[in-house]
Amino acid sequence: MDRDDGVLEAPYRLEYTYQRSTGPVIGRFLTGLRDGQLEGVRTAAGTVMVPPLEYDTQGAATGEAVKVGPAGTVTTWAWVTEPRREHPLTQPFAWALIKLDGADTAMLHAVDAGSIAAMRTGLRVTPRWRAARTGSIRDLECFIPADAASAAVADAAAAAPSVTLFPSPVRLDYTVTAGHHLSVYLRAMQDKRIVGGRCPSCTKVYLPPRGACPTCGVPAAETVDVADHGVVTTFCIIRIPFDAAPFPPPYVAVAVLLEGADLPIYHLVRGIEPEQARMGMRVKAVWVPDEQLGPTLASIKWFEPTGEPDADRAQIERHL
Ligand SMILES: [Zn+2]
Repeated sequence: MDRDDGVLEAPYRLEYTYQRSTGPVIGRFLTGLRDGQLEGVRTAAGTVMVPPLEYDTQGAATGEAVKVGPAGTVTTWAWVTEPRREHPLTQPFAWALIKLDGADTAMLHAVDAGSIAAMRTGLRVTPRWRAARTGSIRDLECFIPADAASAAVADAAAAAPSVTLFPSPVRLDYTVTAGHHLSVYLRAMQDKRIVGGRCPSCTKVYLPPRGACPTCGVPAAETVDVADHGVVTTFCIIRIPFDAAPFPPPYVAVAVLLEGADLPIYHLVRGIEPEQARMGMRVKAVWVPDEQLGPTLASIKWFEPTGEPDADRAQIERHL
């Protein structure tokens, strides 16, 4: 989108999901949750820790699993007036430390008390289980006051393997502001032009333009058009699949030194077998159809070999 001052802005989302391994102790706890049971672990001092960890607070290894709860007592709490997207409940609720019966430590979880007036330290609570459980702390939807416990019994679990992995999603939504010089570069892309910035002192052409020469430290306001063809300075063959991959692997990512530029840009090359990718290969941009052109590097679909003889190493060795 365009701001009033001509600078481009765009929403970005950084998102990926880890598969985390649980280890034996937490894996046993998560397996119990899937099966509708709460378990702690015996510490070397003889106390019961919930949730269980491999080591107690003194660093000693913990021992046998101990069934606890399912009811417990609120030891402290905070009321959430406006639940957020990732919260376990959509209506106002309490985050509480709950000491389950048989445990010596308190566990953090949500309490659906209905209203802040119904919430208090010392409140007896019992779990509300989800019907479909996967081996996650979210299998325990929340706790509810024990006098409302009719829904508190978990369904019998079918026999299933122990939990050893769980997905751990990470997501960050933010806005990228391109700045003046990068906006000029991106806007030119919608006209199938590639624009660099020339330093008045060393005459190097930076791509994208930067406004100031990082070597000379002087303003570099002059923009120049560079060609949409050039030479591969270096490359990488991607063989491992991942969610956001643009193509099924293997495919080739390249640094391309465009004719007229002193810095390479990074893009993809298609139209060859990955094993044929090489330094010095001459390539040209393949633009998207005109109606899809926009202020983005994605206006270039990828690069393809031109078939001309390779460039000498000497031509690219100062641009790696
Ligand atoms: Zn310079």
